[in-house]
Amino acid sequence: MIEELTKYGTVEEHATLKNLNTYHIGSTTRYLISPNSVQDLISILKLLKENNIKYFILGNGSNIILNDREYAGAVIRLNNLNGLEIQEDKNLTYAEAGVMLPTLVKEVINRSLTGLEFAAGIPGTIGGAIYGNAGAYNSCIMDYVESVTVLDENFEIQTIEHEDITYSYRTSMFKETKKYIIIAAKFFLKKGDKQSSLELVEERQKRRVETQPLEYASAGSVFRNPEGDFAGRLIESSGLKGYKIGGAEVSEKHANFIINKGNATSKDVYKLINYVHDTVLEKTKVDLLIEQEFIDWE
Ligand SMILES: Cc1cc2nc3c(=O)[nH]c(=O)nc-3n(C[C@H](O)[C@H](O)[C@H](O)COP(=O)(O)OP(=O)(O)OC[C@H]3O[C@@H](n4cnc5c(N)ncnc54)[C@H](O)[C@@H]3O)c2cc1C
Repeated sequence: MIEELTKYGTVEEHATLKNLNTYHIGSTTRYLISPNSVQDLISILKLLKENNIKYFILGNGSNIILNDREYAGAVIRLNNLNGLEIQEDKNLTYAEAGVMLPTLVKEVINRSLTGLEFAAGIPGTIGGAIYGNAGAYNSCIMDYVESVTVLDENFEIQTIEHEDITYSYRTSMFKETKKYIIIAAKFFLKKGDKQSSLELVEERQKRRVETQPLEYASAGSVFRNPEGDFAGRLIESSGLKGYKIGGAEVSEKHANFIINKGNATSKDVYKLINYVHDTVLEKTKVDLLIEQEFIDWE
């Protein structure tokens, strides 16, 4: 099995995921695989299916809560699918799923294209961002996506045009159906002014540093903002800032962030999320919905 898999990419057995998730949870996986190409990804998926091995696609691990126990399957990273093509004269911006969002933002701004400035501080991959429709400052990635190329359940390559993609605040049909692996996307961006874009990104980055606990491991906002309110405000008003379970803590700087103070286990994070949810429900009657995703908890 392992020899077969290594034909199509790099494979590690019983690999640690500690540095592959932004909470730095010390999870491991039976197989950690990085396919060399889309064709190799297809071969790997077929091989896993034949051998009845489950899999999970990992982006930058910045919106997930892993389990401490070993994942009894294959974690597939698309870090080798990192092609980027920008032709500003043809209004073409194409990025493969493994490209980091801040890298794409930097490259388009360098070519004086505007639209994606909002995403400069979102530490995810293109695949992960499209899956969860990442956004900030009232913009979201799907508003700028012209089409998404995916592998469907039959491992066929399909290109889905913008008008056929359903999405809303922090979700998309990719997240709702879990039927597709995102392999690339095209974006529509407008001609802009490089200097203004750079200033906007810098100003927002400064604000993030001031308001978010970026000095600690976290996976960004834990809960979605409910209509007309902010999860952070509700958590703070429920008296939860600084509340700790084991190594996990509700950030003093931003109450909608749970931070790893050094040795948090996934159970600490899990228990703290549930505690925050239940306390906010009891004190404010608001049933917060989680934005981050628990992986392999059933
Ligand atoms: C400091 C900090 C700040 C953040 N700020 C923001 C913010 O302002 N706005 C925001 O929206 N988010 C924010 N986030 C959360 C996170 O960065 C985004 O949700 C990001 O888009 C997740 O991408 P990822 O590559 O890390 O996905 P992962 O966490 O690796 O995966 C998330 C989900 O996407 C799926 N997935 C990943 N790649 C693919 C693929 N190619 N095909 C199919 N499914 C795939 C995974 O299976 C998983 O279910 C922040 C996180 C941190 C740590």
